[in-house]
Formats: sequence, structure tokens, C-alpha cells
Amino acid sequence: MVGGGIVGLAVAHALVHARPGLALVVLEKEAAVASHQSGRNSGVVHSGVYYRPGSLKARTVAAGRAAGLSS
Ligand SMILES: Cc1cc2nc3c(=O)[nH]c(=O)nc-3n(C[C@H](O)[C@H](O)[C@H](O)COP(=O)(O)OP(=O)(O)OC[C@H]3O[C@@H](n4cnc5c(N)ncnc54)[C@H](O)[C@@H]3O)c2cc1C
Repeated sequence: MVGGGIVGLAVAHALVHARPGLALVVLEKEAAVASHQSGRNSGVVHSGVYYRPGSLKARTVAAGRAAGLSS
């Protein structure tokens, strides 16, 4: 996989949990992970309260919250 931001790392985490023993490498061009947007954002957890009920955003953040990906 390419990209060690939150999305790449979360996908890698999910894949390894879904397929134990899977050989997976995350390639990151910087010296550390989360060097771009993921390490420089506002730190606000988007829990879905501002999204239109039933919209894709509302459903995905609610699913992520239920999966323990945010607080
Ligand atoms: C100013 C700002 C404030 C924000 N505030 C919030 C907030 O409060 N709450 C919130 O939930 N979200 C917020 N966001 C959005 C959130 O930070 C991003 O949606 C999220 O971090 C994106 O993650 P990402 O993994 O897709 O991208 P990134 O974190 O940018 O990760 C991409 C990674 O891929 C690497 N990469 C790129 N090309 C290559 C390559 N060719 N080879 C190897 N590696 C490569 C990069 O170096 C980088 O590490 C904010 C964003 C910004 C810009």
C-alpha cells in the first residue's frame, strides 16, 4: 500500500485484522507517518451530528464510530 496517513494506516490495520498473516507493506515517502494532513489537522472528531441523516457521510462516520475508530 502507498501512503502512511490515517487512511492508509487504517486500511492496512483493517486488512491485517481481516486476514491474519497477510504480508502487507505500507510505503511512506516521508521519514515518519502522518507527516501531512493526518498530523496537521484540527483534531476535531467528526461524529456525524452535523451531517444530513442517512447521507453517506452520516452513515460512514456512524459506522466508524461503532467500529471504535473514533470516540
Ligand atoms: C487544515 C486541515 C484541518 C483538518 N481538520 C480535520 C479535523 O479536525 N478532523 C478531521 O477528522 N479531519 C480533518 N481534516 C481532514 C483530515 O486531516 C484528512 O481527511 C486526513 O488526514 C486525510 O488522510 P489521508 O491518509 O488521506 O492523507 P494524508 O494524511 O495526507 O496521508 C497521505 C500520505 O501519503 C503519503 N504519500 C503521498 N504520495 C506518496 C507516494 N508517492 N509514495 C509514498 N507515500 C506517499 C504522504 O506523504 C502522506 O503521509 C483536516 C485537514 C486539513 C488540511
